[in-house]
Amino acid sequence: MSKLYLFDIEGTTTDINFVHKVLFPYSLEKMEEYVLSHKDLPIVAQALDKVIETTRQEDGKDLVFHEVIEKLKFWIRTDRKHPALKELQGLIWDLGYSRGEFKGHLYPDVLPFFKRIISDNKVIGIYSSGSVHAQKLIFGFSVFGDLTPFISYFFDTKVGMKRDKNSYLNISKETALHPSDIHFFSDIPEELMAAQEAGMKVTHLLREGTKKSEFPGIKSFDEI
Ligand SMILES: [Mg+2]
Repeated sequence: MSKLYLFDIEGTTTDINFVHKVLFPYSLEKMEEYVLSHKDLPIVAQALDKVIETTRQEDGKDLVFHEVIEKLKFWIRTDRKHPALKELQGLIWDLGYSRGEFKGHLYPDVLPFFKRIISDNKVIGIYSSGSVHAQKLIFGFSVFGDLTPFISYFFDTKVGMKRDKNSYLNISKETALHPSDIHFFSDIPEELMAAQEAGMKVTHLLREGTKKSEFPGIKSFDEI
């Protein structure tokens, strides 16, 4: 029996469309207004400096203020995973969730499965390429209310990339659990491969539109 159930978010607990059709467009729409009204906040000022620095390194160009905002919007449209963008998006989503403009999408089988895991005295962890901040918002302001009290661990790419075996070994170290005590769920076969190579048990979530793989697959957590 596994001791830790580790979940990917997009395509596993949550519809990919929530991120691409709700969260990303919201951050695109609000970026300018947010930056203009919060540019003196140290965390925002630092993020803007990082955008300037990256663009200087990559394009040899010094951006002026309004170009920084345009660059951030360009990065949203091209799904760039830059830490400064992730930081600002997290802050913008914070406002959206707390104003009730949207709720974190979760598939209906997620809460019953979480409850079963907890009643079995096992623990729940999340591993997503979205920041820990963004993860806590999805589960904290979810369609089922605040589920963060159910979750013992939140991991993002600070432990490494999701297709890298070492990331899963890092999670094993950080939780002080042997990889074989961890069961990882994802919709992406390459992630399952990396977790399996690290020694974890894996299950492929086959939500609508996901193709089957060599890994054991389920359409819903109700099958477990
Ligand atoms: Mg996924």
